[in-house]
Amino acid sequence: MAVLVYLENWDGAFKKQSKELVTYAYDCAQALNTELIGVSIGDASEDGLNELGNYGLSKVLTVKGDAFGQFKSKTYAEALHVAATHAGADVVILGNTYNGKSMGPRVAARLDASIVTGAISLPNTDGGFKVRKTVFSNKGFADVEMTNDKKVITLNVNSYRLTENAGSVSLDDISGSVTAPDGDATVTNVEKQTGKISLTEAELVVSAGRGLKGPENWGMIEELADLLGAATACSKPVSDVGWRPHSEHVGQTGITVSPNLYIAVGISGAIQHLAGVSSSKVICVINKDPEAPFFNAADYGIVGDAFEVVPKLVEAVKSLN
Ligand code: FAD
Repeated sequence: MAVLVYLENWDGAFKKQSKELVTYAYDCAQALNTELIGVSIGDASEDGLNELGNYGLSKVLTVKGDAFGQFKSKTYAEALHVAATHAGADVVILGNTYNGKSMGPRVAARLDASIVTGAISLPNTDGGFKVRKTVFSNKGFADVEMTNDKKVITLNVNSYRLTENAGSVSLDDISGSVTAPDGDATVTNVEKQTGKISLTEAELVVSAGRGLKGPENWGMIEELADLLGAATACSKPVSDVGWRPHSEHVGQTGITVSPNLYIAVGISGAIQHLAGVSSSKVICVINKDPEAPFFNAADYGIVGDAFEVVPKLVEAVKSLN
């Protein structure tokens, strides 16, 4: 028995969410009184893997080679399946990222495992194996009983605290045991956004809606975001009309964010918007309508005209720097 954690890398490097995931997997292994083993697929940096040793990881299985240079769901799921079998893993943990969401069900099917996607807590093993997840666009929780012998869990980003558990990592290359399956997709081109803070991982987000009247008024939003080191986001209608790129659209049909601070400017707070932002730790709403529904979900509210409030906020933040 072991707990296996998939160590997703981004161009070879790891992110804060990787450390959270390792902390979660370590705590899970401790609770189950078993060993924690990591698996790295592709070209992860050894320094990065060693750094994850500070969060409780001591052993990592690696799968490398031409077939694993770029993420492909079927191929990576096969590698993870082989690693899980090699490690004798009963619990496999992945991040609930795009890649994790795509691999998790494939691995669960191969292992005949129960699966919970979007978990937000450690398993409760009092008389069973229950994992809590959010449901109905973050409006409720479900405690899901996992009854199969093997379990696959994908953990929501920003849902588990980071704890250091110092250790050192040993690597075991199992590439020779993995055969890439036929018929996987071929990646022909990858376009990356550069120079911007990734919205899904941002600790601070400044978001704006139709209350801003037009794309020409986003300068003050970008300035505030720059000063705070925040990512920018927007409501759906704003990206639908092309004022902002679709990559900034948050909500039920867009990206889900869970930053420490979400500042919403000129956004009404429709239920579909809240679905993507309600797990933010602190929400600050700026809206000129005191009846705007967003105020009901806000920790801090400023009733006022965005064109007066945001420039004052910019000046206030500047004075702190
Ligand atoms: P509005 O509703 O027009 O609100 C603008 C707000 O700005 C108002 O509250 C107004 O008081 C305020 N305001 C105006 N002028 C100023 C000013 N000068 N200063 C300060 N405040 C001002 N929406 C999403 O965002 N994300 C989604 O993922 C999403 N998915 C959807 C899925 C479905 C199936 C459907 C039906 C809808 C979805 N929507 C989504 C749309 C959603 O229902 C709302 O229509 C949308 O969120 C409203 O965007 P908004 O708040 O920017 O605009």
